[in-house]
Amino acid sequence: MPHWLVALVGRPNVGKSTLFNRIVGRRDAIVDDMPGVTRDRNYAEAEWAGKRFSLVDTGGYVPASEDIFETAIREQAQIAIDEADVVLYVVDAQTGLLPTDAELANILRKTEKKVVLVVNKIDGEKKEAELAEFYQLGLGEPYSVSALGGRKIGDLLDVVTQDFDTNAEEKVDPRLKLAIIGKPNVGKSSFVNALLQEDRHIVTDIPGTTRDPIDAILKYYGEEILLVDTAGLRRKSKIKESVEFYSTIRTLKSIERCDVAVVLIDATQGLEHQDLRIIETATQRNRAVVIAVNKWDLIEKDDKTARLFEKLLKEKLRIFDFIPIMFVSALTKQRVYKVIELAKAVDAEQNKRIATSELNNKIGEDIKTFPPRSRSGKEIKIKYITQVKAKPPVFAFFCNEPKMIDDNYRRYLENKLRQHFAFTGVPLVLSFKQK
Ligand code: GDP
Ligand code: GDP
Repeated sequence: MPHWLVALVGRPNVGKSTLFNRIVGRRDAIVDDMPGVTRDRNYAEAEWAGKRFSLVDTGGYVPASEDIFETAIREQAQIAIDEADVVLYVVDAQTGLLPTDAELANILRKTEKKVVLVVNKIDGEKKEAELAEFYQLGLGEPYSVSALGGRKIGDLLDVVTQDFDTNAEEKVDPRLKLAIIGKPNVGKSSFVNALLQEDRHIVTDIPGTTRDPIDAILKYYGEEILLVDTAGLRRKSKIKESVEFYSTIRTLKSIERCDVAVVLIDATQGLEHQDLRIIETATQRNRAVVIAVNKWDLIEKDDKTARLFEKLLKEKLRIFDFIPIMFVSALTKQRVYKVIELAKAVDAEQNKRIATSELNNKIGEDIKTFPPRSRSGKEIKIKYITQVKAKPPVFAFFCNEPKMIDDNYRRYLENKLRQHFAFTGVPLVLSFKQK
């Protein structure tokens, strides 16, 4: 399924974050069930009329300092134009047009990308007249909404998702695609350079894009491996918030295109919220993941520190305990190629298919030992298990009361699947169906 990216831009207080919450609202409640990771509101998955997209809010990336504030907003509008499929440009009917609005409009008018002008805070029919002045921004028809009241949001989303189709197939490239991701400064560029040094930078054009080459080719024992969107690593800014905004967007896009996500973590900082968020994003998209703790050269000299680090890391990663971890250094190149080997192994895992007979024998035994029960204590019968597909592996469990299977039992089954069949680094999808 193709993946679409929508970015919210506009000056502060026009209501971007309110609109963001309004658009992702219902779905986010589901995603919130994920234990162990706290939520921030800068990006989320959204869905409208069966069309899914990612929504990113530039409002989460505003610098506190007044003197770089305007620059940051302009810079992020430019990033949004370059990277997103649709830009939602939000203005405020209560304040009316301000100079910053016009300035942003100048940037946004220059793009071929779809820009939707959203006039927020039109809280009722009577206010519709306030729409008129925004025509002069030269961005076509303005759409009125009330983010706070939920007014005309559906109409807006119809327009936003108009060109998103639900089932266009992407061209299949047989080469393994790796995404090197991680928060800013963990060493992604250094890591990619360490891998590519001997080969110089060989880059490739992806069919269907007219932009600069975005991927690099790694030659690995005669095999070509694509490192996706390495060109994106060169984009720099002095403004920390813009770097973070861009990093978020690149992460989302790279995850979408890869077979395996290599998440880099900075050994000198340990695992932080942002790292978890990236790992979580990859697994939610059912991507296979390996973790590479980079800058290990700064740690390993001291054995005790290294062991403590590893222990803490594993504790923090417990909900992702199926993801393999490797300790590397882009600087000394220690184990950088091992990461490639590991990624290849994990890719093989996600393509694996378990025979139905073997599944039913082994997991059937586990179910017999510890059968699922309804809340009233009645036994739920799981009659038959089969692997429906690979990459990501989906297992269907046919039973009499699929809705009665609770999260604990689901985890029990997942643990058993991993005990028998490993699936290292691979998120598993368990689906319970009526027999
Ligand atoms: P952001 O800085 O662009 O993300 O703006 P916020 O979403 O934080 O909203 C700024 C203020 O505008 C808040 O006090 C919101 O409650 C208010 N606001 C947002 N949307 C609407 C709306 O549709 N109508 C009205 N009257 N107020 C709104
Ligand atoms: P990116 O923002 O994730 O692409 O990170 P960079 O590759 O630009 O690296 C950020 C900083 O970390 C740079 O100063 C690098 O020299 C440094 N760095 C990257 N990898 C390593 C490493 O393995 N060991 C050490 N000591 N420093 C590293």
